[in-house]
Amino acid sequence: MKRLLVIGDGQLGLMLAEAASRIGLILDRVSPEQSLLFHGTGRHGIALPHDWSAADYEIITAEREHLPANALMARLAEHPGFGVRSAITTLADRRSQKALLDRLGVATSEWCVVESQEDIERHSRVHGGTVVVKAAQGGYDGRGQWRLDATRAGAAPAELYGRMIAERSVRFVRELSLVGARKADGSCVFYPLVENRHREGMLSFTLAPAGGARDYQPRAEQMLRCIMDELDYVGVMAVELFEEDGTLLVNELAPRVHNSGHWSQDGATTDQFELHLRALCGLPMPAPGSVGHTVMINLVGCEFDPAWLSLPTAKLHWYGKEFRGGRKLGHINLQAPTRQALLTQLASMAPLLDRDHAVVVEEASARLRLAQAESEPAQA
Ligand code: AMP
Repeated sequence: MKRLLVIGDGQLGLMLAEAASRIGLILDRVSPEQSLLFHGTGRHGIALPHDWSAADYEIITAEREHLPANALMARLAEHPGFGVRSAITTLADRRSQKALLDRLGVATSEWCVVESQEDIERHSRVHGGTVVVKAAQGGYDGRGQWRLDATRAGAAPAELYGRMIAERSVRFVRELSLVGARKADGSCVFYPLVENRHREGMLSFTLAPAGGARDYQPRAEQMLRCIMDELDYVGVMAVELFEEDGTLLVNELAPRVHNSGHWSQDGATTDQFELHLRALCGLPMPAPGSVGHTVMINLVGCEFDPAWLSLPTAKLHWYGKEFRGGRKLGHINLQAPTRQALLTQLASMAPLLDRDHAVVVEEASARLRLAQAESEPAQA
């Protein structure tokens, strides 16, 4: 039985542990900041025992790319089974991530390193108005991001000069993402492209598969495959994409399981957590297909409500984290054989949710209706 260690004690690691227990793998998690060890799907961490050794695990993986520089991480970095470490290092910094995309000729929004206010002003002048300024490291879910134009270039935090990038503001028609996996032998599999909607930088829902995106699928797969090959990456990787003027631009890459892949837990033949483990352990990895249509709704900053469980088709994934406004606390997957049936489920779900989430359901329904109309023009 293979033993794996996940760096991080959040919900992604927990869902990896759930998948591991299903397929007979042993998986523990470690909090790199607090040096706490979580066995399997256990919720309570224990201080790392004195005789604890990472050598007890064959494979090390991470549920996040932002890792602290401390003594524990230095020990784990030397582990021969932590092969994805160099990919994580490259992708955790937006400067090296963007440079990699440019080097590979993978389309992404025009960018520059921000050394001073003038860089923002210049980028804004060249690329027509607003630019998106992002901290090179540590930002996620829209944090560490500023929308600025030449007149407000001074609003970027000066202490981050040299450690920020500016990107052209992309006028996308929608955001898509692709999750794929690569094994050590170089073989890759991919899920279908999905459509994502964000609110204030945070994912609010995913539609899987995305409507009318079949023509983009080969291009998106080629992009992700080329990146994973270049990094000699093993495991699941996600690429967030903008659809702009009939082309795809990479927004960002995540060397791990990803929120936009959570739908696969209830809407695919193999979910992304199990797929990640299969890739890492060299287990059989048939291409994961989507089963009908799925909507994933993130539960953000809301209290647990047992009423959600009254809908027989709603699959709740509640993380058991402490309540905090604006924090992702769980998600609900709704899956149905057709878009029409999914719309009916969404209509039943809406009254069970608070106002904010009911609005998200409305938005998701509107996007589904559009996808339905586009795929069945004769009936629209
Ligand atoms: P990120 O943290 O880079 O994934 O950004 C969070 C969200 O901000 C994205 O999902 C987009 O909705 C938006 N965003 C990020 N970068 C850009 C950009 N260059 N142009 C337009 N919107 C962006």
